[in-house]
Amino acid sequence: MIFLGWGQPSCFFFFLGWGQPSYFGVFDGFLTMAPILTPDSVEMDRLCDRLRDLTVSDDVAVFPEEALRACGRAGVFRWFLSEQDGGYGWSPADQTRGYLRLAAADLTTTFVITQRMGACRRIAASENRSVAQRWLPSLLAGESFATVGISHLTTSRQHLGRPALAAHPEPQVPGLGGNGYRLEGFSPWVTGAAHADLLVVGASAADGTQILAAVPCDQDAVRPAEPIPLVALSSSCTGRVDFSGAVVPAENILAGPVADVMRTGQGGNTGGLQTSTLAIGLARAAADYLLEQAAGRAELADVAGRLDADVSAAERRLLDAAEGHPNCDLGELRGQANRLVLRATQAALTAAKGAGFVADHPVGRWCREALFFLVWSCPQPVAQAHLCELVGLQ
Ligand SMILES: Cc1cc2nc3c(=O)[nH]c(=O)nc-3n(C[C@H](O)[C@H](O)[C@H](O)COP(=O)(O)OP(=O)(O)OC[C@H]3O[C@@H](n4cnc5c(N)ncnc54)[C@H](O)[C@@H]3O)c2cc1C
Repeated sequence: MIFLGWGQPSCFFFFLGWGQPSYFGVFDGFLTMAPILTPDSVEMDRLCDRLRDLTVSDDVAVFPEEALRACGRAGVFRWFLSEQDGGYGWSPADQTRGYLRLAAADLTTTFVITQRMGACRRIAASENRSVAQRWLPSLLAGESFATVGISHLTTSRQHLGRPALAAHPEPQVPGLGGNGYRLEGFSPWVTGAAHADLLVVGASAADGTQILAAVPCDQDAVRPAEPIPLVALSSSCTGRVDFSGAVVPAENILAGPVADVMRTGQGGNTGGLQTSTLAIGLARAAADYLLEQAAGRAELADVAGRLDADVSAAERRLLDAAEGHPNCDLGELRGQANRLVLRATQAALTAAKGAGFVADHPVGRWCREALFFLVWSCPQPVAQAHLCELVGLQ
């Protein structure tokens, strides 16, 4: 089928064929985009160039909507889900290759995608199919946006000994029957909350069990706070979300009630590798910068060569882990990735000199972004090992 027509002012659509992945031409202002079907394709190169071009100053007022739209059109959100769920069914290794490329091009947008896909995976993995049927098609097409608020069940506020977000059983949900919940409290960290149509949040019941629920944002009882200005990734528009009696009918419960709901189901990230992947992707951006500089500055040649080799070795270890090779300790990999991204970005800054310290220079931004990996879902043993290293304790 041939379809010729005009969309929004800057868009000219030229479709040959129908549906994915048979169409191959969308002209969107600057770029012809086709679905990315492999992580090493020309289309992937184009998307990464586009993301680099779109990167602007890091500001809570600037959510990367255009970059996310470009990713949606290129089919990025489909990489991570099975064909049965409407995805492309990429292997864990290809998903990792894809994330490595995206993170090197634009860490903030890639981070937002990880949170979005965290929500989508949990929805797809749920035995309760009603949320998947209602939401997955528009989420995968990039027409709606979902994100997660789960850290208060795992890594945030654990020392306080009381749940941040309480789930009270609601035996009769008007018009929807029984076995629902009412949410009271807040989720402290939710990326892109103010831009979300749907939240996937964890909450704790008085008996110690937990639920994971899909909560539409178009209700007064769900209130995203102003996003917080951050050391880096401010454009991820991360902030808390308050819940004042938001009702979750049974059909929106994705998992639970059960102890440790985050340990259930297959909806987590690729074996816990996602954070390490983004760190190594950012280290690649820094290594490539040094290689580029070294081309005209002989004194940088050895340094650039060594860093490039280190990043390549980390990429290989990561892909081995993604392919499920035995003897891959994920905690150790995370520690290595954290150390690598910190020293790679600081090496790039040293080479960029004062020019790299100017606020909008990419190298300075990478240095700030590298600090994120010290706090983002950092397992306690990894954080403890960093602390010991930093103060010289063995
Ligand atoms: C930019 C960004 C985006 C994020 N996006 C998301 C998201 O979309 N979804 C999501 O679920 N999570 C998200 N997170 C949360 C993240 O994954 C971690 O859970 C979070 O960084 C943990 O930090 P915290 O300050 O909440 O930890 P906490 O452990 O709550 O520490 C906070 C403070 O409590 C004190 N404290 C800590 N431990 C103790 C103790 N044992 N005894 C006494 N006092 C203590 C310290 O003063 C510390 O500064 C995001 C985080 C960031 C920074």
